[in-house]
Parts: sequence; C-alpha cells; structure tokens
Amino acid sequence: MIVQLCDTSASFCHYPNTRAERKLISVEALRKALRMAMCENMTVQFLYPDYALPSEYVELIESVDHAKVAPVGVTDEADIVVLPSLDRADEVKEGDTVCVRISRAELCDSVEALSALLRRVTRLNVSLTDSHTAVPEELPAYADALDRLGETVKEEYARGHFVQLNLLTDRLMLKQMNNCNAGAETVTLAPDGKFYICPAFYLEGDSPVGDPDAGIEVPNAQLYALSHAPICRSCDAWHCRRCVWLNRKRTLEVNTPGRGQCLTAHAEREASRRLKERMDAAAPGNMFNEIEKLDYTDPFEKVSR
Ligand code: SF4
Repeated sequence: MIVQLCDTSASFCHYPNTRAERKLISVEALRKALRMAMCENMTVQFLYPDYALPSEYVELIESVDHAKVAPVGVTDEADIVVLPSLDRADEVKEGDTVCVRISRAELCDSVEALSALLRRVTRLNVSLTDSHTAVPEELPAYADALDRLGETVKEEYARGHFVQLNLLTDRLMLKQMNNCNAGAETVTLAPDGKFYICPAFYLEGDSPVGDPDAGIEVPNAQLYALSHAPICRSCDAWHCRRCVWLNRKRTLEVNTPGRGQCLTAHAEREASRRLKERMDAAAPGNMFNEIEKLDYTDPFEKVSR
C-alpha cells in the first residue's frame, strides 16, 4: 500500500505532481487504512510532503512496518530520498537511495551530474518524464548517455562500490519481470481517504477503487496483471516499470504500452547488454545476467511477426 500523505507529496515516479495547496489525509482515514494494511499483511510506503508532520501522524506511521519516501532534507530517516532537481544533488547523503524525475533530454545533458551522484549513492532510480513520447531518431543520444553512465557504474564497481542505476543494472540482476504492478499488487491511499490505482490516477481525478471501510474493488482487475498484457508478456526488458498510467495515456488501455515506452525500455536493455560486455572484459566471471542481442527494438515487432 502506497500512502500519499498530502496533496503536495512529491512524485517519486513518472507522473508529475503540481499541486501546491496542502491537503493532509485525515488521521481517521490513515488509522483505518493502516489497520487494513496490517490485517491484510500489506507493506506500506509513505509519500511525505516537504513539511514536518503533526505528532499524531508520526505516531501512527511509526506503529506499522513501512518505508519512507521523502523529499531531500525533510527527514534523516527517509528510505528513499526524492530529489526534486539535480541542482539539489549536493544535499544527498553518502549511501542514500535516491529517485529523480527527469526528461530524456535532461538526462543526456546531465551525465556528469548523474555520474557524480552515482559515486555517492547506493541506488539511483531515474524516472523519465517523457519515455512515452520517444521516437527512434531520438534514441541514439539516449543510448550514448546511458553508455557514459555505464562507464561510471563500471568504474564504481572496480573500486568496490556496487552502485545500482535502475536503467542499467536492474536488467543485469533481475531474473524476471519486476514491474510497478499498480492495480495488481499495489494500491494507493490518497489524501481524500480513498484508494486509487496509483498516485497518478488520484492526481488526474480518476474514480477511486475503494476505501478502508468498503475495501478495494478494482474494475477489470485482470487487465492490470502481466498475464493479461500480451505485448509485455512476450518482452524481456525486465527492468521496465510497465507503467499502467502511461499505457492508458498512450493507448487508452492499461495493459498495452505505447511505442515510445517500449523503444525507451529496449534502449536501456541494449545499453545494459553493452555494459555487461564491458564488465566481462574488466571482470570476467561476474554474476551479471547474460543478455541476448535482439533483432527488434519494440516487442510489438516480435508479437506482430
Ligand atoms: S502506474 Fe506505477 S509506474 Fe506508473 S506512475 Fe503509477 S506508480 Fe509510477
């Protein structure tokens, strides 16, 4: 269960959150939802706003097993630090797990800043804000930026710092799909006290899928599962978030990705494969996955053959 504590809680993922007016979830709704999470053995992630919470909220949060996702500088106890922009990268502490939202163009222009961050953190999650709009002509620049970030990862490994970058190292370590699974395995409690597929669905004004009193009822729940996503099911870009919010934006179907997302994920998969080759040259016998070279850049090409 993801709990968005306030309307202003920073986004940790693909979706933007431009809400500036504070609206904190009620203590009562939070209490009911946490009781439900405990009864149903759900793990809880709290999305923090950028201000200190009243003490009754702190007590409730600390009463359950949880992870804190908080903007940089808000709490020393954040499990995941949200960096609103790379300009604030200096505030990240050594060993943090950090997430940042940037466009592909920003990533290409910020390889040095991202490399500096990679040298200090345990894990960096980059959420692209525009993977869904990618076209083939834009991908060589992205691939080149990923190769340069891969060089940093390789250098860090050589000095015993096993940093993770979701866009490159996840595919080298995963054994199967590891998607967001919103609507299938995760649900979000929003500041209005109701459940939504994910924070993006709440922020876009979608209908709720339940509340702590009535329970959770996702319409056509099977469509959120990998088993009902024919293109994704045949794909091995295992690191892809398979974002159902972006899917719906591009194809009007939560289980069907747009071409841009697939091209982007496969550019990352291919960059992971090149990184593996370089790792093999530097450290033969490493434990990273072998990655097969493919003759397509979008699994739809494979499915439609
Ligand atoms: S569906 Fe998942 S990957 Fe997509 S915006 Fe929501 S939380 Fe992020």
